[in-house]
Amino acid sequence: MKKPPRILIVEDEPAIAELIAVNLRHNGFAPTWAEDGAVAQREMDTALPDAILLDWMLPGQSGLVLARKWRGDARTKDIPILMLTARGDEPDKVAGLDAGADDYITKPFSTQELLARIRAVLRRRSPEPADETIEVGGLRLDSATHRVTWHGRALKLGPTEFKLLQHLMKYPERVHSRSQLLDKVWGDHVFIEERTVDVHVKRLRESLGPAGAMVETVRGAGYRLTAQAAEREAS
Ligand code: CA
Repeated sequence: MKKPPRILIVEDEPAIAELIAVNLRHNGFAPTWAEDGAVAQREMDTALPDAILLDWMLPGQSGLVLARKWRGDARTKDIPILMLTARGDEPDKVAGLDAGADDYITKPFSTQELLARIRAVLRRRSPEPADETIEVGGLRLDSATHRVTWHGRALKLGPTEFKLLQHLMKYPERVHSRSQLLDKVWGDHVFIEERTVDVHVKRLRESLGPAGAMVETVRGAGYRLTAQAAEREAS
């Protein structure tokens, strides 16, 4: 049998941590609970989890500080982090993503939503083949030939728009902040204004034509590629 994925829950409220742990255990995960950053760090020193559920508001070091610390450490940098935030804290979400969180989930959340998000971050971190064809909705991108088609019809994209679309399609439904897109598409060491991202997103939408609606603006957070827009369009 496959080993259950180990999930580290960093949460100072015992009732919430307990509820999450019970649900995770019930669904084939192996949860461990840490009430603050110091305990979490001790857990991580002993054994690395497969994913971390990280509460934003913690006594001592905040979730934001911890996310940044673990992202900056070679040993822990590849562990997916799912941030738990309070309702409506939009700036928090952006800061969380910028600090290196893979996703965030707003309290209160349903068990189904939590499980879906955890499974998604675990999937994203599994290695991908270099030459691949990605398909989202009717949109198809071939990394080997650099071709993009929409329901079989070829689309013409500039090199930056291609890279941008490739990144968005690799992680459909996920929200990417502008600075994350700069990092992933333009590279870490380039100094470019975040507004540049908006310009290329606009060009990308134009190049995609009817599929342009799939590239959604998420207010206060960034951009995401969603197949749901294409479905709405089609219906
Ligand atoms: Ca808390």
